[in-house]
Formats: sequence, structure tokens, C-alpha cells
Amino acid sequence: INLELLDLGRLQGWTLKPARLRLPMLSVVIPVHNEQATVVPLCHALQEILPEPYEILFIDDGSTDATWDQLTRLHVPDQVRALRFRRNFGKTIALETGFAAARGSILFTMDGDLQDDPREIPRFLEQLAAGYDLVSGWKKERRDPFGKVVASRLFNAAVSLAGGLKLHDINCGFKAYRAEVARNLHLRGEMHRFTPLLAHALGFRV
Ligand code: UDP
Ligand code: MG
Repeated sequence: INLELLDLGRLQGWTLKPARLRLPMLSVVIPVHNEQATVVPLCHALQEILPEPYEILFIDDGSTDATWDQLTRLHVPDQVRALRFRRNFGKTIALETGFAAARGSILFTMDGDLQDDPREIPRFLEQLAAGYDLVSGWKKERRDPFGKVVASRLFNAAVSLAGGLKLHDINCGFKAYRAEVARNLHLRGEMHRFTPLLAHALGFRV
């Protein structure tokens, strides 16, 4: 993974010795609600591919199955972390909480159900390195029911038109953000579906 272009430019000032230069830290924020079957394989797949320094941060959004037990087994100090809500608050609040707790300078979000392939991560990083502030995934081959695909097409068309930002798949859970973008969104309600538009409205490159 060529991370050299990311943020390092800003660090290469006179005051920093080369030995102190570090790659930007990646935080992967994963909201999970009853994903006991997938959190362990997903975490292992991420640990295989992520360049250090990184952290994987699960937000257990009030799961009622064994998700939390699985997450406690995965714990690695400073590297695999988990937070747990007392009840289900929804994906938006889970993401906002993850953004507040994440320590990286690049934040990824992905679903916890193995729908998003960690091997795509380098391609997101390439686009950040090319100058984008938010890179949004695109579920190009949908494996969802026909009704959901049609609803999604209508949603994307309407929202693109209203928001002045043309994207194939606004609501895809797999995204990469510069940390300052994620932390300035202040998500609530169902706003997780609109983060590219919110970022666009704030003047970030999507
Ligand atoms: N999720 C969550 N809280 C909820 C519902 C979902 O944290 O109340 C998580 C879920 O576990 C998954 C992600 O959000 O990791 C996306 O959910 P889902 O796969 O149901 O959405 P879809 O892929 O159908 O859009
Ligand atoms: Mg899903």
C-alpha cells in the first residue's frame, strides 16, 4: 500500500526529524447489531490486511445475541477495541460514537456482516492520497432483493439531484474519511445515509 502521499506532506516540517515520521493511523469503525457470526472472521480479515498503525473499533449497538462475548475475545490493547451501548440506538448514533472515540487520522466505516471486503481498503486509500476527503464505496453488484435495489436506485437519484452531488451509492456502509470530515458531521437521526452530502455541503471533496 502506498501511503507515502497521505498527510505526510504536512508533517515534513523542519521541526520533525525523519525518524519521527510515522504513517497516518487508520481507524476502522464497525457498528454491529446482532452480528455474532461475523465479527470474529471480519476482525481477522482486517488484521491480515491493515498496515500499522491501525485500530479496529467495534460499536456494539445493543446486541441481544453473543456479539459482545465474541468481541471481548478479540480484544488487543490499543488495536482491537469495542464499545457497547446499553440498548439499540441505531447505526447513526453508533457511527457518531465511533467517530468520537477513534484516534486515527483516517477513519473507515464498514458493515459488520462481511458485506464489505477488507481487501478493498487500499483502493480507498489511493483515492484519499489523490486528494479526496471522503471516499464512498459502491455496491456495484447487488445481492439484495429486487424491491430494495429499486428503492435504493430511487433514493440515490433523488438525493443526488437534491444535494448536487452525483454518486451511484450514497448509502453504502463502506467509506473512508479524513478524520476532520467524520468529526465535523455531527450525525443524528438517520443521517448516516447522507454523509457524502453533508461532507459535500461542508466543502470537502467527495
Ligand atoms: N447496525 C447497527 N444498528 C442497528 C442496525 C444495524 O449497528 O440498529 C449495523 C449492522 O450490524 C451492520 C450495519 O449496521 O453492521 C449495517 O446494517 P445492515 O447490514 O442491516 O444494513 P444493510 O446492509 O441492509 O443496509
Ligand atoms: Mg448489510
